[in-house]
Amino acid sequence: MEKHHKFSIWYVVLGIWVVLLIHNYLVSVLAIHTIPYSEFLNLVKENKVTEVAISENQIQGRMVTGTSSQEKGEAFKTVRVDPEISALLDQHDIIFKGEIESTFLRSLFSWVFPLLLFFGVWYFLMKRMTGQQPGFMTLGKNRAKIYVEDDLNVRFEDAAGVDEAKQELMEVIEFLKEPAKFTELGGKMPRGILLVGAPGTGKTLLAKAVAGESHVPFFSMSGSEFVEMFVGLGAARVRDLFVQAKQKAPCIIFIDELDALGKARGMSGIGGHDEREQTLNQLLVEMDGFDPQVGVILMAATNRPEILDPALLRPGRFDRNILVDRPDKKGREEILKVHLKKIKASKNLDLATLAGMTPGMVGADLANLVNEAALLAVRRKKKTVGMSEFEEAVERVMAGLEKKNRLINPREKEIVAYHELGHATVALSLPGTDPVQKISIIPRGIAALGYTMQVPTEDRFLMSKTELLNKIATLLGGRAAEEIVFEDISTGAHNDLAKATDIARSMVKEYGMSDKIGHVYFAREKRSPFLDTYMNTGGDYSEAIAELIDQEVKEIINVQYAKAKTILKEKRGLLDKAAKILLEKEKIDGEDLKALMEESVKGKEAGQS
Ligand code: ADP
Ligand code: ZN
Repeated sequence: MEKHHKFSIWYVVLGIWVVLLIHNYLVSVLAIHTIPYSEFLNLVKENKVTEVAISENQIQGRMVTGTSSQEKGEAFKTVRVDPEISALLDQHDIIFKGEIESTFLRSLFSWVFPLLLFFGVWYFLMKRMTGQQPGFMTLGKNRAKIYVEDDLNVRFEDAAGVDEAKQELMEVIEFLKEPAKFTELGGKMPRGILLVGAPGTGKTLLAKAVAGESHVPFFSMSGSEFVEMFVGLGAARVRDLFVQAKQKAPCIIFIDELDALGKARGMSGIGGHDEREQTLNQLLVEMDGFDPQVGVILMAATNRPEILDPALLRPGRFDRNILVDRPDKKGREEILKVHLKKIKASKNLDLATLAGMTPGMVGADLANLVNEAALLAVRRKKKTVGMSEFEEAVERVMAGLEKKNRLINPREKEIVAYHELGHATVALSLPGTDPVQKISIIPRGIAALGYTMQVPTEDRFLMSKTELLNKIATLLGGRAAEEIVFEDISTGAHNDLAKATDIARSMVKEYGMSDKIGHVYFAREKRSPFLDTYMNTGGDYSEAIAELIDQEVKEIINVQYAKAKTILKEKRGLLDKAAKILLEKEKIDGEDLKALMEESVKGKEAGQS
């Protein structure tokens, strides 16, 4: 938008200069001598004054002096002193008249021009900030800010290394292609789809690809744009967006940076942020109000789902989350392939090696890398982009990234690998734990360096004491593995410890699962509806009980930690084998790990007999 109205401070400077020029010109043309009143009286007595104009405060006129070149006489003015002058004037036959002072020119210069100038500056600034014709009537209708793209030519094959996310989005495409047919068959569409993932992983790209594949219009807005400086404007924009989208259904509405707008209400500190809350409320109202049959699909992207207002995530709103993860080595190779199509690459590029050199990079970084390599090739006057350009580009992009977000070093990677395998191995060895789906050590953010994904097999309402204990052991498995392998422990486990302690405390205080304390309920705390912390309202139990609770919690943790350690010591061989694979591939499937484990158990049995 800035292309159209490029605003320059030089317009203002030029404007001021022109005004000053005109002003100076007028002053010089209208130059009038100011003479003392007594001299005026003398001139009158000497019959040298030809005419005067008398106003309330001053007298202007013309006089004939010896040096005067003008035939009508030289202009003069004097501040009026004596109102009863007419008699004298009469005596000497001077034409005289009263006059109402004209302040037109003076006021023009003293305030009309500055005011115009001020509005001019305001106009240009507004235009530049919003890309809009400013005006009070059009404030709520900032249509230009809603970007509609009609037939996008982005396709699914443009986004690589995100197969799981693509799979989940396939259904949406089917729906958008033929909403009527889809609903006839009883299919129910989610209203809101939330794409969760680090910046640059391709969330926007995927949303666009969905629109492109299903040939529907794509409305996009950024959450931060909704939050306007005028209260009420953001809400008006949301309304406008939905009105426009409904007219063009089937279509996709995409809100980038949902967290900028959807931060939990009441989280913004003193007084809150009225404007953002209003906008968020409007969004909730619109989401509840629209009929999904119309064929409007709302998609949003965020990299901080944890700070979103829980109201946004309720059923019927953004109830489907799709993880757009950082790509693993294989994924990076595929992304590189996509972007290499756009340049003239040498035939003997080793993509697998390149992918191995770029741990932690996301799609946007890889696109940047390819571009950087192409630029290098141009500078070196090569015909095709070769491996040496890519190697140098990796160094450059990495150096930039290292400043931005740390990439883990090999030693850290090893610790993370063993840590995650510790969780997985304990989980696989104990009954009643959720099956391990996959383990990944692709760095994702600051809190979690790697993760072990466990999916519950069914929705659970009841859990037995043994299951809870096994869950604690699984959580502690990460740290236990670190201790066994490296004989040292790291800070990487603090989240696990917090979760394990939480469960243990609940077992003791809420579920009556401690023998020493018995079947008593001691939890008198309220969960804050917004924050995931406890607001302690003070327990109604004695100091002695409090001490006992702490002891019991510690006991549970200690026993489970010992249990995890025993399991892992026994399976040290498996740990090492799996760690090697994980370090190489950055990702390992639960099934593969299980197979590996069964293999090693068999091997051991064979060795013993
Ligand atoms: P996000 O919305 O997650 O921050 P974008 O979708 O804006 O990321 O990605 C920015 C650019 O990076 C894209 O236009 C594309 O060129 C590149 N890119 C990101 N992810 C991928 C991917 N999975 N495959 C191919 N290119 C990607
Ligand atoms: Zn852990």
